[in-house]
Amino acid sequence: MNRTTTTLADGRELHYYDGASRVRRPAPDQRPLEQVGARSELRFDPVLEEWVIVAGHRQGRTHRPSAGDCPLCPSGEGRLTEVPADDYDVVVFENRFPALSGREPGLATGPTPSGPVPPVVLDGSRPGVGRCEVVCFTPEHDVAFADLSRSQAELVVDAWRDRTEALSADPSVEQVFCFENHGVDIGVTLEHPHGQIYGYPFVTPRTRQAMASAEGYHQRTGRNLFDDVLARERADASRVVLESAEWTAFVPHAARWPFEIHLYPNHRVRDLAHLSDAQAKDLAGVSLDVMGRFERLFDGPSAYVAGWHQTPTRAGDDDMALHLEVFTVRRAADKLKYLAGSESGMGAFTNDVVPEEAARRLRAAA
Ligand SMILES: [Zn+2]
Repeated sequence: MNRTTTTLADGRELHYYDGASRVRRPAPDQRPLEQVGARSELRFDPVLEEWVIVAGHRQGRTHRPSAGDCPLCPSGEGRLTEVPADDYDVVVFENRFPALSGREPGLATGPTPSGPVPPVVLDGSRPGVGRCEVVCFTPEHDVAFADLSRSQAELVVDAWRDRTEALSADPSVEQVFCFENHGVDIGVTLEHPHGQIYGYPFVTPRTRQAMASAEGYHQRTGRNLFDDVLARERADASRVVLESAEWTAFVPHAARWPFEIHLYPNHRVRDLAHLSDAQAKDLAGVSLDVMGRFERLFDGPSAYVAGWHQTPTRAGDDDMALHLEVFTVRRAADKLKYLAGSESGMGAFTNDVVPEEAARRLRAAA
C-alpha cells in the first residue's frame, strides 16, 4: 500500500491509498472553497452521564445529490469533486461537514470528557474537538462494498488500520470508530460506496458499558470476557455464520436485530492498527463475504450498519477487544425493523427472529 497525503483548498487533509504499483503526484484542489464554520459542541447529559454532540452546521450538508454531482467520485473534465485526482484506489479525507473537528476550539465549562464527574454539573459543555473522516472504498459510483475485488478490499482494510493508528496518536481523540452506513433505508445521504471514521474526544456510552462488563467479569472469574464469548460461540457453533483461518462470524446469543453478525479475530487484538498482516489479509475476504450476506438473504439491496468496536486509545489491552458488529435494518424482504417505543425510549430491544434461526439462514446465504 502507498499512502500519499495532500491538502484540500480549505485546509482539510486528504490521503490516497494506492496499490503498490501506482506512483502518485497529487493533483491540486482547484475549487474556490471557503471554510465551513464547523463549530460543534459536546453537551453533558447529567441524568445519563453521557456526552451528546451538537453540530448545528450539519443541517445544510449535501443531501442525496444525483450521480453526476457526486462529491466522492474522482474529479473530471468540468467537474471538481472532493477528490482532486481523476482516478484513485481508496481515498480518506476530513469531512466537510464534520460532527467533530479540531479546527475551531471554543470555551469549555463542563467536566473533561474522560475525567470524573464533578459534584455539581447540570449544563456542562465542551468544544466538539476530534475528527470526522470519509473513506471512499472505490472510484466506482454504482457498487457496494461487497462488490469490491479482493485486492480493493485489502486496501480498504489497510486504510482503516493506518487511520486508526494515526488518530490514536491525536491527543484530542479517545476512541476511533470506523463504520459504514449502507443504503437509503438507514439514512445515507451520499450513494457513492463509502464509510466514515469518527475520532471521539470521549469514550462512547456503548464502549464504556462493555468495558465495565469486561472488568466485572474479570473480577469474578479471572478471565477475559471477549475471549470467553468467542470460545463459547465456536464450541457451540449453532450461531456461527462462517469461520476462516483468522476470523469467526456469528449471530450473538442475545442479538438485538433480526439479522445481526459479530465478527471477531480468533486471536484477540485491541484495535485495527494491531492486526497482524495475516489477520488483515484474511479480513478482506471475510468482510466481503459478511457484507454480502444480507443482500443474498433478501435477494436485493439491504441497508445495513457496520461498526468496528475498538479499544479506546488510553485503555489497556485487556479492557476491550476489536470486533465488527453489523446488522441490517430489514427483518424481512419487504419489512424494516424500526426502533420504536421500547428500543428508542428504554433501550430495551425486542427481536422478532430467534438468533439460531437467523444464523441458519445467514449460513445458507453463503
Ligand atoms: Zn460517486
